[in-house]
Amino acid sequence: MTSVDVAGIPVDTRHYIGGERIASASTFTNTSPIDSSFLGEIARGGAVEVDLAVEAARRAFPIWAATPPAERAATLIRIADLVDENIEALANVETMDNGALLRSHLRGVMPRVAHNFRFFADWLVNHLGHPDFETRGHVNHVSWDPSGVAGLITPWNAPLMLSTWKIAPALAAGDTVVLKPAEWTPLTASLFADLTKRAGLPDGAFNVVQGIGREAGAALVAHPGLSRISFTGSVPTAKTIARAAADNLTPCSFELGGKSPFIVLADADLELAASLAVEQYDNAGQVCLSGTRILVHESIEAEFTEAFRRKAGELRQGDPRDPETDIGPQVHATHFDRVKGFVDRARAEGADIAMGGRPNAELGGLYFQPTLVHDPAPGSEIVTAEIFGPVLTMQTFATDEQALDLANGTEFGLAAVVVSGDRQHAESISSRLVAGTIWVNCFFVRDLRAPFGGSRKSGVGREGGTWSFDFYADVKNTVVAPHGWKE
Ligand code: NAD
Repeated sequence: MTSVDVAGIPVDTRHYIGGERIASASTFTNTSPIDSSFLGEIARGGAVEVDLAVEAARRAFPIWAATPPAERAATLIRIADLVDENIEALANVETMDNGALLRSHLRGVMPRVAHNFRFFADWLVNHLGHPDFETRGHVNHVSWDPSGVAGLITPWNAPLMLSTWKIAPALAAGDTVVLKPAEWTPLTASLFADLTKRAGLPDGAFNVVQGIGREAGAALVAHPGLSRISFTGSVPTAKTIARAAADNLTPCSFELGGKSPFIVLADADLELAASLAVEQYDNAGQVCLSGTRILVHESIEAEFTEAFRRKAGELRQGDPRDPETDIGPQVHATHFDRVKGFVDRARAEGADIAMGGRPNAELGGLYFQPTLVHDPAPGSEIVTAEIFGPVLTMQTFATDEQALDLANGTEFGLAAVVVSGDRQHAESISSRLVAGTIWVNCFFVRDLRAPFGGSRKSGVGREGGTWSFDFYADVKNTVVAPHGWKE
């Protein structure tokens, strides 16, 4: 079978290579986290399919790279239009595949997919550039040249959004692309491939190899035909990829995990703080940027906790297709067991599980209750490791120095949230936090012009606006002398 029906939408289960659908002899099974139902057998690629895809991308590269920027941008905008026209299908299939809320996919995530293409098309044509400058009469001209084939590896928590956050700038920069989507969520990449064909992207400029990380993923990142590797995922995988990339000296961009602090200062608006805190359960906690470590000033702990519990109590857990649902399932049984393992070990070590802490018995399956661990032992696993589930910890502090020590005291540095009623106080804290993104009195406000990435083990490099082009393109400086001209 080469196609499956998911939520009434036919999805091709094969790879997309050189504009053609290609099957593999072996497959892997894809199931829905909503109810563990069977979604399909998906082509299981390896070194052979990766070779074919990189070769197709290398053949397409001179054509796409030579396409004038305005035409490249026009193709990207056609892709965005097609995404907009197909939001219902993309949203429904994504929800079946990764269990995230349908209403979020419809209202926020899939519109953002389209925006990724419009944004980088616009940036390429209207904003990418650097003013020429002179050195003793010589003119320096900076340009961004296409670099070759970008190998992209992406996770399952926001599959199409995170893939297109890489695909759009790579194509805008004139690179061609081989994408290896996460094996737990292979479906929307396939639907998206059909849209690139309809948008008139040259065959081979975009390719999808489906498969398992240690097979297709490992073959892709070790391939000498790549000019760039962009990876979003976990720290251990990034280390494996970095080792493979080292053999070819392939430049890598890494967007990795986090254990971000959520700091509530004594002067904070507590209703706002509590509302923002429960947002950290979004996507059932499967968000790299979540402020999972709540750090609250000791003088307001009781009042904040009361407001937090009240708001958390209003969250409805259930089927992510139901518009009333706030928290869906974990993505996969393996991940569910991992999340549960963290909480079970914390409980066994005597941690105070103040809220939740168990599988949702009423719903069964992969639904884990929103959980709060109060006052975890300093340095314990629950407060240092990325859990990537609906599990928050809460600690108190007495002074700003203590808050900063706790906030900065992990190996990560992806994001931070600061809630405060005093601008100077918030600024004083933010300026001393180690993180790629800091939200003050807000959460998840994202502008694609802004740099995005992580410090320490949360990532390597920044993407967004010109930072993305700096990564995907070969940045070149041409120095032109005032002399030697015949005219
Ligand atoms: P993962 O590292 O297990 O897998 C990510 C991708 O890497 C998948 O496509 C997988 O197939 C592939 N992969 C696995 N082994 C590989 C190998 N040896 N070679 C090449 N590819 C391989 O991560 P995950 O569990 O899918 O995603 C969750 C992680 O992603 C969390 O740590 C989360 O914080 C992080 N994340 C980060 C961001 C960010 O922007 N910083 C965004 C979303 C998720």
